Order: sequence, then structure tokens, then C-alpha cells
Amino acid sequence: MKKLTPYNAKRVEEEMLAFWNKNHIFERSLEQTKDGEPFSFYDGPPFANGLPHFGHSLVTSIKDSIGRFQTMRGRYVERRNGWDCHGLPVEFEIEKKLEISGKKQIVEYGIDKFNAACKESVFTYKKDWEEFFERIGRWSDTKNAYATIDTSFTESVWWVFAQIHQKGLIYKGYKSMPYCPRCATPLSNFEVNEGYKDHVLDPSLYVKFKLTDSDEYMLAWTTTPWSLPGNAALAVKEDADYVKLKLSDDSGNSEVVILAEKRTESLNADTFEVLEKLKGKDLVGKSYQPVFALHNLPKNDNLYTIWSADFVSIDDGTGVLHVAPAFGEDDLALGQANDIPVLQTVDNEGKIKTDIGLEGFEGKFFKGADKQIIEHLSSKGAVYAAEELEHTYPFCYRCDTPLLYYAIDTWFIAVSKIKDRLLATAKDINWTPENISTGRFGKWLEGARDWAITRNRYWGAPVPIWVNQDDENDYIVVESIEQLRDLAEGTPDLSDLHRPYIDNVIIKKDGKTYRRVEEVIDCWFESGSMPYAQKHYPFENTEQFEQSFPADYIGEGLDQTRLWFYVLHVISTILLDKPAYKNVLVNGMIMAADGQKLSKRLKNYPPIEDVFATEGADSLRFYLLSSAPAVNADYMRFDRDALRDINRNLFMTLGNSVSFLSMYAEIDGWRPKSLDVPTDLTNPLDIWLVALVNQTIENVTKAAENYDLAKASWPVYELVDELSNWYIRRSRRRFWKSEDDGDKADAYTTLHWALVTVCQLLAPYAPFASDYFYRHLVEDITNAPESVHLSTWPISTTDSSNILEQMAIVREVVNEGLAARASAGIKVRQPLANVTIASPQSLSKELLPIITDELNTKNIVVENAKELKVALDTNITQTLQNEGWAREVIRNVQQARKEAGLDVENRITLTLTTTDKQLSAAIEEFEKIIKNEVLATTISQKSQKLSFSKNVTIEGMALSISLQKA
Ligand SMILES: [Zn+2]
Repeated sequence: MKKLTPYNAKRVEEEMLAFWNKNHIFERSLEQTKDGEPFSFYDGPPFANGLPHFGHSLVTSIKDSIGRFQTMRGRYVERRNGWDCHGLPVEFEIEKKLEISGKKQIVEYGIDKFNAACKESVFTYKKDWEEFFERIGRWSDTKNAYATIDTSFTESVWWVFAQIHQKGLIYKGYKSMPYCPRCATPLSNFEVNEGYKDHVLDPSLYVKFKLTDSDEYMLAWTTTPWSLPGNAALAVKEDADYVKLKLSDDSGNSEVVILAEKRTESLNADTFEVLEKLKGKDLVGKSYQPVFALHNLPKNDNLYTIWSADFVSIDDGTGVLHVAPAFGEDDLALGQANDIPVLQTVDNEGKIKTDIGLEGFEGKFFKGADKQIIEHLSSKGAVYAAEELEHTYPFCYRCDTPLLYYAIDTWFIAVSKIKDRLLATAKDINWTPENISTGRFGKWLEGARDWAITRNRYWGAPVPIWVNQDDENDYIVVESIEQLRDLAEGTPDLSDLHRPYIDNVIIKKDGKTYRRVEEVIDCWFESGSMPYAQKHYPFENTEQFEQSFPADYIGEGLDQTRLWFYVLHVISTILLDKPAYKNVLVNGMIMAADGQKLSKRLKNYPPIEDVFATEGADSLRFYLLSSAPAVNADYMRFDRDALRDINRNLFMTLGNSVSFLSMYAEIDGWRPKSLDVPTDLTNPLDIWLVALVNQTIENVTKAAENYDLAKASWPVYELVDELSNWYIRRSRRRFWKSEDDGDKADAYTTLHWALVTVCQLLAPYAPFASDYFYRHLVEDITNAPESVHLSTWPISTTDSSNILEQMAIVREVVNEGLAARASAGIKVRQPLANVTIASPQSLSKELLPIITDELNTKNIVVENAKELKVALDTNITQTLQNEGWAREVIRNVQQARKEAGLDVENRITLTLTTTDKQLSAAIEEFEKIIKNEVLATTISQKSQKLSFSKNVTIEGMALSISLQKA
């Protein structure tokens, strides 16, 4: 073994990247395992039109480490990259880039040109992603990446869509949907979830609606004044108590208002008098006068009357609900059940419509009209009070526009119908952390709602529905390109399925003409279809698909619980009645050191390139993966000191340990012969290290199999610490000894095997350093795999000895003894005559020399006792004193050797001169030991100038050291 240069992360990582690339190590790891049992992994694809950032390092490290671990276990882990390419985020970016906004301007610009611009943009940052993956050590097959814009991908998405339709679960509904007026499209409820904002300031308006047959007013409350022109009804709670109040103002004017009795709490008691109590049902059926006079109202007797509705709350507002079927889910449902017309006063871009009798408000953005509407109603005397309130309001998660509920025709998947199956199949999913199963995910399934899957947009997979132009209820759902080609009029070019080309494909059947609906498919539907579509299933790769479904493992952040994890589950349950994945690891989130979100603007985290260049990708990976919160859906604070600590205490320490072995192996010409576990060991330190490594193998393997990455990685850090600070420290002398006896050979074999195993255990988490050290350790072994990532995962051998417990007792005794020394003020280098150990546990005889050595004592007496106690004989005789000084001399000479740049094996000529008689006597008494320890051929106390000299003091006594290579 050659000598090893000190560990430097950047140099090592760049060297390993070059080695992997040149020697195709990733490809070979796949080739080598291709007959192994497949381990299926689905990649949650990133959008290639956004740059990778610091936060991505966590999920990237997790995905890579699991792939590497399973590969070393002999599984065949296909790691295919994917790119999400469709959807609102891309369209929004392109609108900004082209300086256009809204659908009208897109159509004017040209759908073909707009979509071409979207297509061109989707891979803008593909190279940045690939470089990021490479630098952080994520192995994935980027050459065979799939993209959601591929025609083959879309064809499978159509097939999935058609399957769901054939099961009777796709329907068209006129529903009030969360709607982004800027994007002019409805959003699914889980998309809405992404965009709630707290502390949004909105009006809190009390509006008076005059009853037709009396001078009394219904008092309603709303936070959306803009929706009042669309008011079509009022609603009360049938069985609740209501009151008629006489309200008086300062000038003696009074009027009568009606509201829920409970809600009078919110009024000032001095200003009203209760005239009458009544029930909600007494109000039902009464008609009232609208606060806005719209033109061309539909003829309908149900308009502007009071209804009973269960969803009316008497815990807030006034217990009188303003019902606008155009702008509310419950409102529309009430309207549809009772034939109340929808008064649509807002167009699909969120602007107040023209020519409907709303002069003065026309063309205003809905929310922007609030103030003017309040002023208008106040001047008409229709306002009881106008205040402001802070509440939570949804915004478009992509363009940040306030959403509204908007009645629109949309296609749905009837998810609510299959809720029981969703819950049943979810039982087979193993979650990390476990509580998400019944918590965040389970609760979401319990409340599952129908999924709006169409978007009134341009850049997406087209909805494969062609509708009869004469009968909207007669439509064809196309499930393949071939089927469309058969049905289509003429011979359309179907190589690109995007709009606007697909819009021109017309189906003629039995004399009827079918045209495609305008919408595109929700891009989340595509994400949920990726298990099938990435393989172009069922059109090809049937066997491959079957082998890869369900995934053994997927992983993303907590937000995906109700997004990607959910849509995968919905689709697989409908199609195959089973979950799409067996194991899911939900990662947490990296926060800045101060607990804030990572922010580019605040610069509250280091640039990732800087981390790569200093602590290295391995340190970052190990730091993240060994953090329990980070790999268990929780928040972790990024602490650069902790990262540095890993760099130093794990990688540098491991490097020093490998260096130590290499250095002595070089001196002794020792060569490792195999990677087998050493056997027939006699030295308790060797037996202990083998047992400790075995125990670590067992623990970390179990944890990795259970996707508990913190417990799979951290014990390796502890093992390296034990190996370096106990095994090597205690074994140093065994490597020094010049006689080539069996004990020394055992020390070599044991340490070598332990270090190789450590590299293997580290390989999934720190792929660079582990491979670098591994390659150094095995370079002399023929037949050893060329890379740690081509080696097989170590298997622990059982160990029936109780060496680990025994050594633990020894460590405890030593700690106790060193503490006693410290409190007695006696340096460790000062030998003692005797130490008495009172111990409740029996001490192994073989291990006593370790205690003797560690506590630097001539003798040990062991006694039985209830409690551990270590007593020192503090009587220092002259000889002991001299030996202590001699030890100090040795330490100083060793230091001088280092400073003189000598190799450990170099023999020296040494002079030690002092005017102090006592020190001189001590040197004389222990000359032989000094000579031995510092590899001096001669020691002279006569002053002579050798090539290296230095002066030191030992307990106030001056000593001149002079030495040179013998
Ligand atoms: Zn939007």
C-alpha cells in the first residue's frame, strides 16, 4: 500500500467523478446486477424549467443513497430520470417572457407559436440539473430520460384516461370551482391547497336586503362585496332562532333588521331593541328586493327569495347567507337543487361583465371592485356596517392572483366514489415517517373529493374527448393514436399531439361530426400516470412495466403527500386496485440556521458550490442523511458547524486511519491478501473491533432496509470514531514493534478489514470518499472489485462473545480512573505504583493490561463492590518520578522528529543536554526505554550540534534536543 495524501474533499470528489466517468462505474453496477431481483424506483420528476437549488440536495441525496444501497445488495435498480414539462408553471413563465398575459393575448399571439415557445423553454435548465446531479453524486440514467411531452408519454396518458372513463368514473359537471382568473382555468382542490395565504385583509360587510312585503331588512354578511351583484337568494338555518331588532341611530332614526339571535352578540347592545323572536323556517319563502338591478334577468319565481340551507352557520356572520350560485360551491349546489338561476356577473378573466346593468363597475377586476361596490351600496342606504378583517385566502399557486369560486363546465374523476378502495389499498403502503399513513395522507383520503382534471389552457396533454357537434352527451374517448387514426377524417399528422394541431383532427362517425373539447389535461394527471407512461405501457414494455409496478420505493417532500403521492395512488387504485408504491420516504425541509425558510434574497445559507468546494458533497450528503428530522418529514436547521464537524471528524479521521495503516504497511512491506473477515484472532482489541464492525453492519443494514436513513448512516460515524480513538490508539504500539510476529499481522489484517468494511457501509451516503479510500485499501488485492460501488454489501457474522460488553466496562473504568487522576492533579504520563478498582461487574483478565496501560500504573488490584470506584495510589517515588520525566522527554523528542520531517521508521542519533541534575539522572535511568521509543541508535548527554535542534522545558527544567537521521 502506498502512502496516502491528507484528505481534501474537493480533490477527492473530482478525482472520483473522473474515475467513475472514465470507467463507466454506474453503467457497470447496472450491468453487474441485471439478473438480480429488480428494485423499482419512481423518480418524482422536477420541472426542467427551474434551477436546482440548495433545498434539492436533500431529496437528491436520499434517492441516490437508497439506489446505491440496494445495488450493493444485489438488486437491479433502474434509475430513470424524468422531466415534468407541461402545465401552468411553464405557461406562466412564457407569458412573462413574451410580455403577454391572459388567454386572449395568447390566442392573438398564436397557440402554435405560444406552445412552441413553451416547448423550447422546458429544457432550459436540463444541463444545470444534470451537472448538479453529477456533482452531488446522484447516479441516474439521464440518457434515457422520459419527458411528459413525448408523444409516447401522452399516448399512455390517454390510455389511462380512457381506462378511467371505461370504469364510469369520468363525468362532466357544471360546478363552482376554485378558479384563477388570470390563468382563466379551474384548479384542483389540491392545487388550491398550495396557495393559501394568511393575514389577507378583506372587507367585512353587513348588507341590508329589504323584504318585499314589509319595511323590514334581512341583515346578511359577506367578505366578497364583488359577488353581491350575483346575489340570487338568501339562506337561513331552518331550526335556528332569529330575532327582529329595532336599530336606532343617534339622530333618532330607526329601522327593523332580522338576523340570528346568537349573532346579536356582535352588535352593540345599546343600539337595539328586540321586537320579536322567530325561527328560521318562518323566514323561508319570503321574497326580497335585490341590491343591484341587473338587466335581462331570467324569468324565474325562485329568484330573490329566502331558502333554508344546512350549510348556513350561526357561529359567524349574521346567520343570513348571501347566496351567489355563480361564485360558491354550496351556493351553486343550493341553486341547482332548487332551480335558482346562476347570475354570472364576472367574465372568465375575473372582470365585471358589461351590458348587464352594472355601469360604473364594468371591466373592473373582481376584487378591485369591492371598494366601489361598498360605496355604491352605502349611498343607497343598504349598508349596516363596513369593516375590515384579516383572514386566510387562496391565491393561484403559480401566478399569485387571488382565486375565486367560479361556476364552470369541467371534467371530473369521481374520486369520491372510490374512497373506500383508496383507503383499503393505502393499507399496503409503508410510510416513513409512519404517522403520515393515518395522518396527513389518510385524512386526505378520507376527505377525497372529485378531481377536476381538465384545464382551459394550451400547454398540456390534450383531453382525448371528441364531442358530437349536435349532441354534447354523445362523445368518444380516444385511448390510442392508432384508434384516432382509424376514426379521424383524412390522414392527419399525429406525430405531435399538442394543441393547436390536435384541435384540427375531426372524427366523422355514422354521419356525425365530433370535435375535440378545448381543454388540456391537468399536469398532475400526467404525474400520476408516470408508472405507465414512462414505459409507454400498454403499447410496449409490458413485461418491464409489470416488473416495475408497484414501485419498491418513492420519495419526495411532505407537500407531495397531497399531490404526487396522492395522484399516483388514485390512478393506480382505479386502474389496478393496488397502490403504486410499497415504500415512501417523506423528506423534511432544510431551513436556514435561524429557522427561517431558505431565501436567496436573505442569503441565509451558503452557496452550494461553496459547500462542494470546501466541506464537499460527501459531508453535505452525510450531514443531511444522518439528520433524523431531514429524513423524517420534519424541519432541520442547516448548521455549517455541524457540516464542518462531519468533514473533520468523519472524513478526515477516516483518512488519517487509512493513512496510519498505509504508512506502517509501507514500512513493513505488508500487503493485504483478501477481503475476508479475519479469523483465529487472539488479541482482545482485534476481537473487539471485529465484533463492533459486525454489530454496526447488522444495525445499519436493518435500518437501511426500513428506510430509516439516520440510523443507517450515523452509526458509521461512531464506528470511525471508535476505530480511530480506541482501536488505533490502543494498537499503535503493535504496529511500531519491529518484530514481525503474529500479533502484528493480526493487527494489520483486522484494521484493514475494518476500514474496507467502513468504506462499504459509507458508500451509499458518502459515495466519493468511501470509494477513494476503498480503492486505496484494495489496490493490491487481485480480484477485488474496482470500486466500492461494485462491491457487495457486507454481511455480519454472528459473534457469541461478550467482548463488546466487556470492553464497555473497561472504557468505563478507564474514564473513572482518568477523572480520578485529573482531580488529583497527576498527569497521565506520570506512572503510578498502584490503582485499586472496586467494580460491581467482573473484569476480563485479558483486558486488564489495557486498563494498566491507559491509567499508566504499575499494578492493578480488583475488588468486588456495589458501585464502581477507582482509587489511585498517589505516592510518587523517585523512580516513578524519573519515569514520568522520561516519558515527557520521549514526547518532546517524538515532536522534534516530526518537526525535523523524519519518517516514523527512520533511526536517529540523539543528544539530550540539560543542566538540571534531576532530569539528567532521569534520562540516564530510563535511557534504554527512551532509545527504544524514539528509535535512537545512540543517546549522548554531551552537547553536539546535529542537523535538527530545539529547546524545551519539562516542568521548569531546560532540555536541549538535537537529532539527525542515523
Ligand atoms: Zn394563475
